[in-house]
Amino acid sequence: MSDLIAPLNRIGDIEGSRHNDDGTVTTPAGFVDAYRQYVAAGWGGVPFPPTYGGGGFPWLVGVAMQEILTSANMAFSMAPLLTQGAIDMLLTHGSEAQRETFLPKMVSGEWTGTMNLTEPEAGSDVGALRTKAVPADDGSWRISGTKIFISFGEHDMADNIVHLVLARVPDAPPGTKGISCFIVPKVLEDGKRNAVTCIGIEHKMGIHASPTCTMEYDGAVGWLVGGEPNRGMSQMFTMMNNARLSVGLSGLAIGERAYQAAVSYAGERVQGQGKAIVEHPDVRRMLLHIRSHIDAMRALVYTNAWAIDLAKHGRDDAERTRGQELADLLTPITKAWCTDLGSELARLATQVHGGMGYIAETGVEQHERDIRIAAIYEGTNGIQAMDLVARKLPMRSGAVVLELLDRIDADADAADRPQLTDAVAALREATEWLLAKGLSDPRNAFAGSTPYLRMFGTVLGGWFLARQAAVGDDARAASARYYLEQVLPTARGLLPAVTAGADSLDAYWAAK
Ligand SMILES: Cc1cc2nc3c(=O)[nH]c(=O)nc-3n(C[C@H](O)[C@H](O)[C@H](O)COP(=O)(O)OP(=O)(O)OC[C@H]3O[C@@H](n4cnc5c(N)ncnc54)[C@H](O)[C@@H]3O)c2cc1C
Repeated sequence: MSDLIAPLNRIGDIEGSRHNDDGTVTTPAGFVDAYRQYVAAGWGGVPFPPTYGGGGFPWLVGVAMQEILTSANMAFSMAPLLTQGAIDMLLTHGSEAQRETFLPKMVSGEWTGTMNLTEPEAGSDVGALRTKAVPADDGSWRISGTKIFISFGEHDMADNIVHLVLARVPDAPPGTKGISCFIVPKVLEDGKRNAVTCIGIEHKMGIHASPTCTMEYDGAVGWLVGGEPNRGMSQMFTMMNNARLSVGLSGLAIGERAYQAAVSYAGERVQGQGKAIVEHPDVRRMLLHIRSHIDAMRALVYTNAWAIDLAKHGRDDAERTRGQELADLLTPITKAWCTDLGSELARLATQVHGGMGYIAETGVEQHERDIRIAAIYEGTNGIQAMDLVARKLPMRSGAVVLELLDRIDADADAADRPQLTDAVAALREATEWLLAKGLSDPRNAFAGSTPYLRMFGTVLGGWFLARQAAVGDDARAASARYYLEQVLPTARGLLPAVTAGADSLDAYWAAK
């Protein structure tokens, strides 16, 4: 990673991917070769079943490797990340024939995968999409429409690209109930090009090497995933949940890379009484703030991945259900908390660099630009917060959340961590308020959903770090101490924002 893929991070930023007149996309110099070596080493297949050529490792192992890849080069990592999501989706929902046709080459990485949801009128509101699918005589479908913002929709790193495309079949019910998912390969089995073209790529703030494509489907040949129409939304949720964990992970990965740059710079830069700036309390505060949040995020991301493993491979139904509930609850928190933090921590790392942080040559400002998208794609962080309060909090009438809070509370008591006891009490108060008031008027719950997610993430971070402090070395204990004493108390400070209700926001709009 550090010899091959990490050095391409800056080259990718400067060169970016290029759209050519014939509809092809050329990735920055070195990307094709690096991807070839990534495939040859078999990295992409690590967490997938050996039946399709995978390594059969737990998802947790795949996630740990993904962290290293994303730290090395976030833009590059998006091709494998989306491919893994597409594989997971086809493993769960594809027919046997579809799995046999597509999975071996996707698991090996020879073919990459994409996720085609977004259209000009359908962003967060996926149900508004208009792309159409009509049946052909041979059991396949013809797909027509325009998709925008499709990551790695076209590129030169793989022999084929397997697009998973959301579209409507004739007479489909309106909204999300009438969405179906189709497999649309760039190259068909007979070697001919399918009727799908990249008509342009976006110029954007960061991840310049990752082509963000406008895709035109003009009667392209496709196959209905699993053979059943109108199941596309729930099928795509498999891919999105997978991708949401990976996107959350990018906040951690970029935080770690920015931290490494900042801590190294702080040890070398001399300012003020001939001291390296790392000697100054305010610089120490910034670095420790980043470090402790990274420790907390890593625990959350890996616990989320472990819960996914438990949901799939638990010893019995009860254990699998427990894993699924935990994964469902943690996914929006992992996605939104870690990506908001990714931006905040990258900004702090720039600050540690002073003026040099603003200078492109240092490389640290790129992390700030690259990670900014993570709070937006895969469902904005606002949508994640709504998912938490509207779908996850009501699981078993709130019992999934309340049982977790009981467990954190018991651990806090046992470890004698009064800050954690207080923070979890505040989170319980917020949870009970949302359960009582949110059901009667969802606008109340949605008004407080973003601060609630932040509060939840902050408390989970405290719980993980309290446990790490008990078993880790002195540096780990000191990082946990900073978080428990200086970050965790901010959780209670969010309580008024969670429980203010929609009136507190609507009053301004009524008065305007
Ligand atoms: C670089 C990049 C790569 C991308 N890659 C892909 C990809 O590979 N595949 C793909 O399908 N898409 C992709 N996207 C699209 C991305 O997922 C969408 O941009 C994102 O889902 C938000 O949709 P939108 O841009 O239409 O914003 P909008 O939906 O217009 O949202 C604008 C704001 O309004 C808020 N909002 C919207 N609706 C509500 C609501 N009901 N309640 C409260 N707040 C609301 C949002 O949270 C946001 O803050 C990519 C986008 C970018 C920029």
